[in-house]
Amino acid sequence: MRNLGRRPARQHGRGAPLWLYLTALVLIPVLGVVVLTAVIARSRTAEAAGAARAEEAVRAVAQLDAARSSVEHEIVPVLSLAVIEDPSAAVSLGIPSFLLAGQRDSAVAAAQEARETTDRALAAVPSSSDGAAAARHAADRLTGLRARTESGAFRIEDVYVDYLEVSSALLTAQRRAAAAASSEEVPATTLRATRDVEIVAQLAQAASRQMPLFLAGHFDAGELSAGSRLAGQNAWLAYTDARRQMDDLSQESLRTAWLQLRTDPVTTRLDRLLSDQFESGQARLPLTQLVSTLLLGNERDARLADLVVRAVDSAQALAAADRDLANGRLTTTLQLGLGLLLAALLGALFLGRSVSRSLGLLAGQATQISEGSLVEVQVAGPREVRTVSGALGSAVASLRRIQDQAQAVARGDLANTVLDQPLPGPLGEVVHASVREIVSSVRAREELQYALAHQATHDPLTELPNRAQALTLVTAALHRAQRSGEMTGLLFVDLDGFKAVNDSHGHACGDDVLREVARRMAAVVRPGDVVCRLGGDEFVVLVERVRAERDLQELGERLIAAVSEPITAAGHHVRVGASVGVAVSRDAGTDADLLLAEADTAAYRAKRRGRGRTEMFDETLRLQLSERAELEAAITAGLENGEMELRYQPVVDVGRSRVIGYEALIRWNRPGHGMVPPDEFIPVAEGSRLICDLDRWVLHQATAQLAAWRAAEPPAPGEAEPTMAVNISGRHLADRRVVQDVADALVASGLPAALLIVEITETVLVSDPVAITHLEALREMGVAIAIDDFGTGYTSIGQLRNMPVDTLKIDRSFIASTEPGHRELVALIIRAAHTFGLTVVAEGVEEPAQLDRLRADACDQAQGYLLYRPMPAADAGALRRTAVPTG
Ligand code: C2E
Ligand code: CA
Ligand code: CA
Repeated sequence: MRNLGRRPARQHGRGAPLWLYLTALVLIPVLGVVVLTAVIARSRTAEAAGAARAEEAVRAVAQLDAARSSVEHEIVPVLSLAVIEDPSAAVSLGIPSFLLAGQRDSAVAAAQEARETTDRALAAVPSSSDGAAAARHAADRLTGLRARTESGAFRIEDVYVDYLEVSSALLTAQRRAAAAASSEEVPATTLRATRDVEIVAQLAQAASRQMPLFLAGHFDAGELSAGSRLAGQNAWLAYTDARRQMDDLSQESLRTAWLQLRTDPVTTRLDRLLSDQFESGQARLPLTQLVSTLLLGNERDARLADLVVRAVDSAQALAAADRDLANGRLTTTLQLGLGLLLAALLGALFLGRSVSRSLGLLAGQATQISEGSLVEVQVAGPREVRTVSGALGSAVASLRRIQDQAQAVARGDLANTVLDQPLPGPLGEVVHASVREIVSSVRAREELQYALAHQATHDPLTELPNRAQALTLVTAALHRAQRSGEMTGLLFVDLDGFKAVNDSHGHACGDDVLREVARRMAAVVRPGDVVCRLGGDEFVVLVERVRAERDLQELGERLIAAVSEPITAAGHHVRVGASVGVAVSRDAGTDADLLLAEADTAAYRAKRRGRGRTEMFDETLRLQLSERAELEAAITAGLENGEMELRYQPVVDVGRSRVIGYEALIRWNRPGHGMVPPDEFIPVAEGSRLICDLDRWVLHQATAQLAAWRAAEPPAPGEAEPTMAVNISGRHLADRRVVQDVADALVASGLPAALLIVEITETVLVSDPVAITHLEALREMGVAIAIDDFGTGYTSIGQLRNMPVDTLKIDRSFIASTEPGHRELVALIIRAAHTFGLTVVAEGVEEPAQLDRLRADACDQAQGYLLYRPMPAADAGALRRTAVPTG
């Protein structure tokens, strides 16, 4: 899979690395949380600071109020002393002098106490507070004022106005402080409480001014009366106005306290008295009433001062509570912010980690996949990553399938079902299509190879293994048998009468017969036994693990029985038989060729012993086989050693009774054996190419002989010259060199081609088309062709019409036969042959009657012992031109 395709170029994107995205991802919410927290914290801090400032301011208001009220209370004892020390005043008041003298000490003490109270109140204002400057200023002015009053050289109204100025300055500072306490950033509760303090302080201040004004008005002796009256009325109006404002108090407790104070008999009495005094013109009061009014005023002012203290305490408590609340909220905000920050950080970290981990995993897998290893893709992480992983996973699955298919193809495992599975997507379709293409072309090639191999190893007619394959199979079986020590059997099955079927019903019928015979044999043998066709009508059956020779013999009988059943082929009812030869491997020396030769030899004996039987290859045959091998060697040696000789049998013209030609017949003058006839060694020589060597030798010898006779006695011009007939074996005729051999002999001898006759047996003509081509070539050359032993085969005369043949030699058996009808048959052959323009030679004429008949039947030529026996060249040559002795 390394070469899945061109390796994709690594994508070097311009995008920032992942960590940068993730950092941004983490930082943005964190920043948001920090900013939000800061904003909230800032507002909470401002709130707390506002509350603290309000608390501070309220305290300042209270302190200033106390100082102011104290300053105003200082006026009464000062005025009292002025009255006491002024005898005219005492007179105008109607107070007896002794009484006043008795009051002086207590007035001095009261003035002293009031001063001390004022000093304490002013000193209580902290130097850091808003009212500190006002307090210092008041203290300075008071020092001057007090010095003036103690000196006694002062005007009451001046002192009075100066005291009021100090009080007003303190009041202004008090208002400023109160305003500072009600800034925007002060919490609402504190703000309301501060207002409450202002309202109460306003009333207390308005009330505390009443007494000095009341007294001043009372002591007024003339020029001040209008101004002081006006001031008194103003103060009353301010008081009533401040009293109305008390309804605006926000705190329930203060309202309740105020209700009690207002409805108190002290207040109601004083209010009635003062309202009479200020509204309907001041009447001089008797001293007792004046004193009790003063006492009532003191009492009421003290209560109002308590109310102020109460309002201040409450405001301070509320401001402190507000400050604590704001601080608490700030802490909570900060904690919440911190918590959120942590959560955001953790969340972002977790998210970042999970995203980066899953992306990292995915990237790693993608790299591995791009490098060609089809790893398992893990689907994890956020949905988008899972989607990508899923897609990658299915891509890998497709690639795996492609890989599986490619591997199956590479292994040659074309039957694998994985190859049938379609592949997804357009690429998959293309790959699948090409895989299918490969598979089908490989299959086609395999089928072709199989067909070719089958063709090379099988007989196309019967589909059985052919000769070559039979030898291969036998060789393999012998090897197996050698290892196992078991016997291997081979049955050679040679059909009987098949040739007749072929000749009389045609090749199509013959083919049908062969197929049927093959089918029957295959049905008879055991599973594992193999039936092969060697060619023609020869078959073999290979049997492995043979237990006894008898089993093979029985199989041979069963084969014969099966084959011998009637056969319906190409519309004909025919019968064939079989001769079976059995050979068994006995020792390690047996090879396939030898075993086949042994079985063949045994089958040959079965044929010779009457056909339709089974023969075992036995010791006798073994001997024959070895003798045959020896004989072959001897023939080869004999040919080389010049042991071969030719005899010439003259052929006679029947009509004119004279020699018109010769047939060359071979003899082997074998040392120690005498003259060996050709029937004893020609068939052996025909078992190999040795026959070609013999034939070639005869061709040269015979042509040279006739050429020699001609040279010795040259023929007269126009004279009919004797011919030379040479026997050529079918095997030699099938050899492509036969034409060249004949031409060489003619060239070597110088004999005209027309004087040479080549004799071949009729079996050669029908069995081998190549042989016919060679005959045609010979005829072209001018050589005549004679069919030898005509009548022993199955050729009909009609078949000869189109054959390259000049002469017909009727077999000896027909000439010698006395069977009824044979004479007529010979006459018929002669007439038919003449119709086709053939010359007829009768063989084996031994009796004069036979010759007479042949003459009567218009046979052209005759050959036989009656005329001449085959004879040495010298004798034969002498017979040229001599008349034939006829009996
Ligand atoms: P063939 O070609 O049919 O030769 C004729 C055979 O019949 C010869 O036997 C001959 O001696 C014999 N014969 C001739 N007249 C008579 C007769 O009146 N009565 C009897 N009983 N026999 C007669 P031979 O020479 O033994 O040859 C036998 C066969 O050997 C030949 O039969 C031929 O097929 C083969 N042969 C002989 N010489 C050669 C040869 O040079 N080359 C080849 N390939 N085959 C040869
Ligand atoms: Ca012959
Ligand atoms: Ca013959």
